[in-house]
Amino acid sequence: MKARFWGVRGSIPTPLPSEQIEHKIVRALLGAGDVDLTDEAAVRAYVASLPVHERGCWGGNTTCVQVTSDAGDTIIIDAGSGLRGLGDAMLDSQFGRGEGYAAMLFTHTHWDHIQGLPFFRPFYVKGNRFDIFARHEDIHGRLKYQHDFRFFPVGMEVMAAEKNFHLMPDELHLFDDRMQVTAIALDHPGVAYAYRIEADGHAFVMASDAEYRELSGEYWDKYVNFYRGADVLVFDAQYTLREALVEKQNWGHSSAMIGIDLATEAGVGTIVMVHHEPSYDDDKIKRIFDDSLRYLDRMPSTVRPTVLVGYEGLMLEL
Ligand SMILES: [Zn+2]
Ligand SMILES: [Zn+2]
Repeated sequence: MKARFWGVRGSIPTPLPSEQIEHKIVRALLGAGDVDLTDEAAVRAYVASLPVHERGCWGGNTTCVQVTSDAGDTIIIDAGSGLRGLGDAMLDSQFGRGEGYAAMLFTHTHWDHIQGLPFFRPFYVKGNRFDIFARHEDIHGRLKYQHDFRFFPVGMEVMAAEKNFHLMPDELHLFDDRMQVTAIALDHPGVAYAYRIEADGHAFVMASDAEYRELSGEYWDKYVNFYRGADVLVFDAQYTLREALVEKQNWGHSSAMIGIDLATEAGVGTIVMVHHEPSYDDDKIKRIFDDSLRYLDRMPSTVRPTVLVGYEGLMLEL
């Protein structure tokens, strides 16, 4: 199973402002003292050696993750603005010829998780087929509402692909049972759902958007149990710990340190922090995660998860 991240920003698409690009160029040049700047290959190698957030950015598109089984079956989780890039890439496959089939899961229907849908080109290609699932009732009505003429000029009925909408059952079996999905409700305004996808002997959990109101007891244990043993846990780490627990209580998001506690207790292999706060620049996001790594280092547990900052283009092999 593979996972690819097409959108990792929380709340609203966040393009990198010019002054931040300038700041990155200046910093990269200052660090290039030993590089022959007239040698393109040497410059490229130097740039490639820089950390993700210095040679590029964590990413500005909102939530969209693609999960693919070894057999090539595709589940798309959420339709934030990152879905546009995924859709364009899919056109190079059978989806460009109207012969594609994929499943879609929606964690919830806040705007940052559905706003890419009108720009998802495989939906406009006749012959493509999609099964679309959510734990929320009336997913069709909710998505169609976004296409109301007052908000978008093209109605959903114009999108020629076959789209079948379903209320997700407790256990979902997809692609002749090559992929299985279960769900758990997350604390978030209007409720979001975490999905656990099992395939090829591995488990991938998408848990965005979520706040954790109690950090022990039955409440905590139900999430530990749901995340238990996952190879990858995608975690809503929008806030600093102080924001999550004090300043932005009840806003429906969490922080990296809470994720590390959960992942460690649940024996998760890799935790990927996503839903980055739109008002934080790349350096601040890096600082928050450096703090969380120091926290991880101080944990008594000897079995620790790998902690990653999610970025656009991140690909994981499970
Ligand atoms: Zn969100
Ligand atoms: Zn939300």
